[in-house]
Amino acid sequence: MSADFLPDTRLPESSRPETLAVHAPQPEIRGSRPLGVPIHQGHVFAFESADTLAAAFESPDAFLYSRMGNPTVRALETAVARLEGGADALSYASGMGAINGVLLALLSTGGHVVAQRCLYGGTYALLTDLAARWGVEVTYVSGTDADEVRAAIRPETRLLYLETIANPTTRVSDLPALIAAAHEAGVPSCVDNTFASPLLCRPIEYGADVVVHSATKYLAGHADVLGGIAVFKDRELHRTVRHHAVEQGAITDPFAAWLTLRGLQTLPLRIERQSASAAELAARLAAHPAVAEVRHPSLAGHPDHAVAARLLPRGGGGVVSLDLAGGREAGKAFVEAVRLASLSVSLGDVKTLVMHPASTSHRQLDEQALAAAGIGPGTVRLSVGIEHVEDLWTDLEQALAKAL
Ligand SMILES: *Cc1c(COP(=O)(O)O)cnc(C)c1O
Repeated sequence: MSADFLPDTRLPESSRPETLAVHAPQPEIRGSRPLGVPIHQGHVFAFESADTLAAAFESPDAFLYSRMGNPTVRALETAVARLEGGADALSYASGMGAINGVLLALLSTGGHVVAQRCLYGGTYALLTDLAARWGVEVTYVSGTDADEVRAAIRPETRLLYLETIANPTTRVSDLPALIAAAHEAGVPSCVDNTFASPLLCRPIEYGADVVVHSATKYLAGHADVLGGIAVFKDRELHRTVRHHAVEQGAITDPFAAWLTLRGLQTLPLRIERQSASAAELAARLAAHPAVAEVRHPSLAGHPDHAVAARLLPRGGGGVVSLDLAGGREAGKAFVEAVRLASLSVSLGDVKTLVMHPASTSHRQLDEQALAAAGIGPGTVRLSVGIEHVEDLWTDLEQALAKAL
């Protein structure tokens, strides 16, 4: 390896300390390459000619100003686009940034969206806001019936919005059938693939036009960074949404992109372990007297078990939801009794997390509204981490004993 130290401008030999302090030389490494992606923290890039700078405005692969593109962020976009089998991707500051960016770029006043009823809370709130303030109309469907989608589509329908695995019900959308129903009417589709990750399901293979992720969850995986990604089946749509993203400015910081890239390297190992442990724990929970019902796509009694066998052959993901027989009090007692698992709202982390929606995230809802969201008073969501499955079971068992 040899490093040539390049002055960042054509610095005159006679430069004084005041000038030298500003123009630090930068190493240009030749003959080897860093195995870790470098963090390009610099937000602005210098050019030799006005024409190359002008051309850079048009290309996502030329770097002039980091809101329009940054080499570390671009490395993340390229990596996730390849994992999802898409043409290109856009990285955002958070999952909601990505979802907001895609919806605002593809919808306008008078536009209509067909969306799955059981959605991530933030997405549901965003659609409600778009409806109230911007005149976007939304029709909610079950996410399991293609004819329902056909019936909901109107001439002004601009988007079908689905989630691969819904939260916290773990219902699995029949992506190929629903996306095909939308395509028959020329309507593009967007799938939130956060819960499955591209290791378990690649919605673009089933025709999805856009795939969004909260990279905060499985992609990054270590509870240390917020991020969002939108992956596009074709370059045209990428160009349209990128144009909006540059205006929106909800871009990824290079360090956040670097952390996500680092997490991504172990995603296959994490998701394999998390999926297998979740399936094992779901089976054991289903046989426990304190538990009334367990939902995980791997269970034979799951309402979408057949769809999951087709779409998620490598595993049903790391999220399990269960209903404690003792209802609300039992749910609260359980999440307070776990020791290895943590009471936390997120998911997809290397550490196991538990959550009792009725007493926390959904505390304002009455029993009827909870039921409509697919949540019971004793529902607990478990995001299984990468700890040893027997240690997890020991913890869950002692917590269940306090929730009887
Ligand atoms: C967390 C989450 C989001 C939002 O992502 P943030 O990174 O928190 O903005 C969107 N969709 C799903 C399914 C999520 O779990």
